[in-house]
Amino acid sequence: MDLYTCDLCGYYYDPEYGDEENNIHAGTAFEKLSSDWKCPECGASKGEFYKLDYEELDDTYEEDYDTFDALHEEYME
Ligand SMILES: [Zn+2]
Repeated sequence: MDLYTCDLCGYYYDPEYGDEENNIHAGTAFEKLSSDWKCPECGASKGEFYKLDYEELDDTYEEDYDTFDALHEEYME
């Protein structure tokens, strides 16, 4: 499933983990979140999120990809 990131604060929505604090169960795809779901960090609407594309990041934004990797590991802890 696709990982989405908040354009405003950098929060990552990972469907494998969901957003338990807001009753979003693990395994819920971003597309399935209700339209009034908001970023748990900054309150941004779903529209502020964009999809991360691993392949694109790898080809075009190698530096960003490294940053993403580091942030992602941080978020997983
Ligand atoms: Zn946010």
